[in-house]
Order: sequence, then structure tokens, then C-alpha cells
Amino acid sequence: MPTITANFAAGPAAMPKAVLKTIHQQLGRDIENGVSMLELGHRTAEFYKVRDEAKKNILDLYGLRASEFSVLFLQGGARLQFGALPANLRHLPKPAYIVSGHWSKIAYQEAQAVSSAEKVWDGEADQFSKLPTQVSVTGNPSYLYLTSNETIHGVQFPKERLATLGENLVIDASSDFLSYGFDWSKCAMLFACAQKNAGIAGVTIAIMRNSFIDQMDAKGLPLYLDYKIHREHDSLYNTTPVFPVYVTKVVTDWMLERFGSLAKVEAFNKKKAETLYTLIDQSGGFYKAHAEKNARSHMNVVFTLPKDLETKFAQEAKQKGFLNIEGHRFLGGFRLSIYNAIEQNQVDAFAEFMASFQRSQGS
Ligand code: PMP
Repeated sequence: MPTITANFAAGPAAMPKAVLKTIHQQLGRDIENGVSMLELGHRTAEFYKVRDEAKKNILDLYGLRASEFSVLFLQGGARLQFGALPANLRHLPKPAYIVSGHWSKIAYQEAQAVSSAEKVWDGEADQFSKLPTQVSVTGNPSYLYLTSNETIHGVQFPKERLATLGENLVIDASSDFLSYGFDWSKCAMLFACAQKNAGIAGVTIAIMRNSFIDQMDAKGLPLYLDYKIHREHDSLYNTTPVFPVYVTKVVTDWMLERFGSLAKVEAFNKKKAETLYTLIDQSGGFYKAHAEKNARSHMNVVFTLPKDLETKFAQEAKQKGFLNIEGHRFLGGFRLSIYNAIEQNQVDAFAEFMASFQRSQGS
């Protein structure tokens, strides 16, 4: 087995080494001293503390007030929110959806199944390589839905646009959660599965404006889908995924200690992304980015190279210890997921590999 130089998986994804060490140490201590984090009950003072610290870290990083926003730890993945959210708002005017890639397309389809959602923009004709600068929303939709970063297609809304597209934004930030700060004034809800930027699979984090939850009506729905219940029970309605929430706490502790602010996280990620896009742009067309320039993701860099060289590229990358670089099965090509845990030197090493691979092809 080669030494792993970098795990570029899209999720579950690489974790910061420091976080893994902290968890390992804590588990080691717990094995000797009593109840470990893997055994801890969700209705214990110790877990309440973990949950509350995780919530506080998330609110602090985004600069939000607990009086205005609830942070909920949910199960069922980011996917469950696709249907749960429109179902809770069926009694209000139809929501509006921006379909900018695989994930928002599914979310729109689910919303249509439970309510009468309206599509206000669709990028499929351009293979989801572009994003809108404006959308035309008619009426008074209960919310305007978008996926801030499309994990498969590698398109990401510039953060400035999030405050200008419309009111009552609902953002699926599964693959760019906690990677930049932005203006929340138009945001009603943001949700993300944890297994990319905020921990491990098993928990989904929803940050919801309290006034947005107040408007909901879950009559007739399974109780688990009722966001009001989750808020009322402070994420303890059923057995909370204790260990995943604990991991999110450790990840967010690490973020506060290592970066201190989302502005620093953003700069860190921007540099990594620019390293790769610069190389792609300077390759004379050998490498091609999927996303158009002003829609490029800083989290998932999706690119192609000449089809007949794909297998060789993948094999050589693997030999060098670069793991999980293949594009999603729906799109092909390659995808480097460079979430918060990926270091600049890992990206530099991959960029060097890309350059030398191109040279070795005499192009
Ligand atoms: N939204 C986006 C943008 C995603 O990337 C993913 C998972 N890759 C999901 C939603 C679904 O998340 P989950 O599998 O946790 O339901």
C-alpha cells in the first residue's frame, strides 16, 4: 500500500489529522476511566454539554445569535430535508427552486412530490456548468431554494450572491458548510450533512431562523419530520446520534482554534482552489474544468482530460497515494474534493502530479 498523500473523497471525506488525534486520545482515556463517547447516553449532562458546545461553535463561526436561529442535529441525511421542508410549509404559497446541479434537481423533484414547487432557473441544458446571477421569482414564494455548492458538478455560488437572489433563502450547504462567512439577512434556513466539512456520517445540521420554524405546520406528517418538535426537544426528540454530534463539536473546536474565523477558512480554501484552477487554465486545454469561470467551486474541483488517458491518470495518481479522485458516476472525469481538512501541501502535491503527467504525454 502506498502512503496516502491525500484522500480527495467527496464525502465521507478526509478529517483533519488533529481532530482524529483528539478523538483517539479521548477514547483512549475513556476506555480506562468509564463511559466512552461511543457509549454515552443522549440524555446525560455530559452529552448536553457536547451538544451545546457544538451548537455554540456553529453559531459563533457564522456570527449568528441563538435568540434568532436554532441549530438542530437531525438524522435521515441532508436528503430527508428535501421532502421534510416543503411538507412543513404546504399551507403557504409554493416555494421557488433554483436547479443548478444533481442535488438541487432531486430536492426540487421531492418538493414537487409534496407541494407545488416552482422551478425558477435550470442549468441542465448547460450540463450544470453555470449559475444564475439573478432569478425571476413571481408571487411570494414561501422560500427560495438553492444548493450553494453542487458537489457533483463543482459549481458554487459566489457568497456575495446569496444575499441578492431573493428573500427567505433555504440553502443546502452540504458540501460547503462552514467554509466561508456570508450575509445571513435573507437566509431562512441552511442545512448540511456533516460528513464533508463538519464531521462524520450520521448527523445533519440545520440552522433555522426561529421565525421560519414558527410558520410551519406539520399536521398529518410523521412526527420526526416536524421541525417544531426538534426545536422544542433541542435535538433530543429521539436518540440523538451522540458520537457524530461529538465529532462535529471536535471539528468546530478545531476550526476555531486553527482558523478563528470563517474569513480565514475562506482564504485558505480559495488558495487551494486557485492552485488547481490555475494549473488547469494554463494546461493549454489538456485539462478542462467543468464549471465556467465565475461558477467554480472552491470545494469540489471537477475536470476532464483526454478520454484515452483517463485510466492511466487514475492509476498513476493512485500509485502516488492520491485517493478518490474519480468524478461522480453521473458525470465522469475527475473531482478533487478539497474541503477544510485538506492542506495546501496536499493540493500542491497533486498539482505537481498533474503538471508532470501532462509533460509525460508530451503535451
Ligand atoms: N446535498 C448535497 C449538496 C450533497 O452533496 C449531498 C451528499 N453528497 C446530499 C445533499 C445528501 O446528503 P446525505 O447523503 O447525507 O443525505
